[in-house]
Amino acid sequence: MAAHKGQKAIVIGGGAFAGLALALALRQGLGPDVPVIVADPALATRPSKDPRATAIVAACRRLFTTLGVWDAVAAEAQPILDMVVTDSKVDDVTRPTFLTFAGEVEPGEPFAHMVENRRLIDELVQRTEAAGVDLRPTPVTGFDARPDGVSVTLGDGSVIEAALLVAADGARSKLRERAGIATHGWDYDQAGIVVTVGHERDHEGRAEEHFLPAGPFAILPLKGHRSSLVWTEKRREADRIVALPGGEFHAELERRFGLHLGETTALDKPRAFPLGYFVARSFIGERLALIGDAAHVIHPIAGQGLNLGLKDVAALAESVVDAARLGIDFGQADVLERYQRWRRFDTMSMGVATNERSALRARHSRHRTGHRRSPAAAEGSVHQAGRGIVRGSAAVAEGRGAVTVA
Ligand SMILES: Cc1cc2nc3c(=O)[nH]c(=O)nc-3n(C[C@H](O)[C@H](O)[C@H](O)COP(=O)(O)OP(=O)(O)OC[C@H]3O[C@@H](n4cnc5c(N)ncnc54)[C@H](O)[C@@H]3O)c2cc1C
Repeated sequence: MAAHKGQKAIVIGGGAFAGLALALALRQGLGPDVPVIVADPALATRPSKDPRATAIVAACRRLFTTLGVWDAVAAEAQPILDMVVTDSKVDDVTRPTFLTFAGEVEPGEPFAHMVENRRLIDELVQRTEAAGVDLRPTPVTGFDARPDGVSVTLGDGSVIEAALLVAADGARSKLRERAGIATHGWDYDQAGIVVTVGHERDHEGRAEEHFLPAGPFAILPLKGHRSSLVWTEKRREADRIVALPGGEFHAELERRFGLHLGETTALDKPRAFPLGYFVARSFIGERLALIGDAAHVIHPIAGQGLNLGLKDVAALAESVVDAARLGIDFGQADVLERYQRWRRFDTMSMGVATNERSALRARHSRHRTGHRRSPAAAEGSVHQAGRGIVRGSAAVAEGRGAVTVA
């Protein structure tokens, strides 16, 4: 512990899942001698207003358990007990099952849970505060990196001398941009419409993913007779749909959702999130590390975005804590290189797998509208589905849990 004394601070720009989880992990690993500061204007808005819900796969859940946040949200987390995948057109009367998943990672441990983002973010904020992390409700507006440290300027005018700045400021990261780190990837010209829906009948813990011509329509179970939808459309169509008056929106919803869970009601205002794919050309810069969506964004079809971000958190925390234990300056280049080597390849592989999956889906939709699909594509889509199609199937990919192709 003495080796940490005299180490400069770590500033994390961005206080959502990735930034807060990293702050907690660093606090646990470094103890109180290294100041950890999280700056984010969203910290001024509590409770969180994030309307999304996230599938937390078993590996992420274990990390949240280690960080001490899972127990507080567990009662509100809905286990995903079963999953059904269909491939159909919007007006098809029935949706024949294409694939089903059922299974547990370990006996009694479902492969994923659905949790409302705001619940988890609020718990992370409380825990980081209790752990002595310095939370500042203001953005990082600039930084000046030198070989021996980085001066970080916040929106309130304060300047912090730090050993390391972490960019956890999301897909449109200004910190990444300011460091001159380019990204490669593409825009799907799609948006995911997110809305929470109430329904008459119980979902019995079953998630559904319907591959409609415009893209996947996912029904993800929440506690109570509620589900969270991620409904993919072309971006312009998504903007039109979210702007519809209540009755017209409901008609569009029902056409896709169907009546298998009885009457449905939208419980909040639908919002459209643009979807894209990119990976930063470098995950590090001078005295800078990128984590979470600031480093990579993948299509939510894989339900792995947060999972990738939390792997960044674990790898960066371990690299920093190992260096600090040896009395090494944890913001120096070889420590950051270790982090980058650890994470960039894994992220690229996941990105490629997700894109292949999207491409296969596009081919499959063409097949549904008259084009032939090659046997290889058909085989590939089953294989890819087993690799991580809908949230939480990483466990299935690892051979745990059952996959049934109808
Ligand atoms: C529709 C949809 C559904 C999804 N479903 C799933 C799922 O089921 N499972 C899954 O694993 N992943 C899912 N994802 C992906 C997942 O939501 C993201 O990977 C995750 O939220 C990224 O977290 P983050 O902390 O890196 O970034 P963000 O959540 O984007 O947070 C960035 C934070 O940085 C702050 N910020 C911005 N600029 C600054 C600045 N200059 N200074 C300081 N702070 C700043 C913002 O206020 C924000 O709080 C989904 C994504 C979408 C769009």
